Amino acid sequence: MLEKVRLGQTGLMVSRVLMGCIPIQLLPESNAVRLLRYAYDSGVNFYDTAHVYTDSEAKLGAAFSGAQRQNVIIASKTMSDSYGKTIEQIDESQRRLKTDYIDLYQWHNPETNFEDFQHRRGPYQAMQDAQKAGKIRFIGVTQHSVKRARFAVESGAFETLQFPLSLLSSPEEMDVSFLAAKAGMGVIAMKAMCGGLIEDGRLPFAFLNRYPHIVPIWGIKTAGELDQFLELSKHPEPFTNEMQAEVEKLRAEYGDEFCRCCGYCLPCPVGIAIPQATRVTTMVKRGAMLDALFTPEHREKMRKIDDCTNCRTCVSCCPYHLDVPRLLKEQQEAYVKMNAERQDR
Ligand code: SF4
Ligand code: SF4
Repeated sequence: MLEKVRLGQTGLMVSRVLMGCIPIQLLPESNAVRLLRYAYDSGVNFYDTAHVYTDSEAKLGAAFSGAQRQNVIIASKTMSDSYGKTIEQIDESQRRLKTDYIDLYQWHNPETNFEDFQHRRGPYQAMQDAQKAGKIRFIGVTQHSVKRARFAVESGAFETLQFPLSLLSSPEEMDVSFLAAKAGMGVIAMKAMCGGLIEDGRLPFAFLNRYPHIVPIWGIKTAGELDQFLELSKHPEPFTNEMQAEVEKLRAEYGDEFCRCCGYCLPCPVGIAIPQATRVTTMVKRGAMLDALFTPEHREKMRKIDDCTNCRTCVSCCPYHLDVPRLLKEQQEAYVKMNAERQDR
């Protein structure tokens, strides 16, 4: 069986392989259910989804609505900005998941400075009320920004933090994980495969396995991918000097290219939605939010890149020094091609 670790002060004992349920959106329901049950039979007990991941919750509901439910930990999340919408989404997620409780409910990347959110009637109060009503067990938060993640930890309001942590993470990002662990929070790594830039799990797994306070989520679409993580978890490889050299090489290769969605570059004076636009091809490759990526609204968002004046305000604000205008152009070209391919089908 897989090793289990404690998820901070939630006390939940989770397998070191957490399954990210974005990619199951790409599978027909019967295949998704087969994959989820295979993961369950292999000892994976934590599944991370979100209200916004189209049919991901419903597929989890189809896989685990029976006797398995009590043996799995289901994490979902909301991007809602109001009390009422959050309650509606919790109720809808429960219907889709065919369950009357969600183990961990996360406020997904809130754009708040965390100074006032505990004192107004918004998503956080909705989660607290849902917790009191027994609909959710623990309240967590996800963040992409170092600054807001620090505020979230310091607020003391959340029991887990989900944050981008991978071999491409900066020292500041790794520090956030230590801070959260010190505060007793469970630390969940999102984008453990560097947001889809890396396809083989061996190196990302060995890198993160050196940090026992971090539990990574792996976006898994096939039994073969799952087998690799199961094997790595049962027989972890030591992180060698050769691996460190590979990490340095990847940092040199992707250091300029990897948008962390932190939003520091916003607002763009001409209204380009930079974080969504700079990652669109990676998201399509991973099957993330496909329905939302090929709508007329999103096409317009990508067309807006034509309005870029090359003022480079975004470049000066980006903590990762990305050449944003060039990335935007490259993403736009790839998106136009993908869009045409989808329309030809
Ligand atoms: S360089 Fe382009 S994308 Fe960046 S802030 Fe200026 S107009 Fe917006
Ligand atoms: S371009 Fe830079 S500042 Fe903007 S969202 Fe991406 S990583 Fe953050």
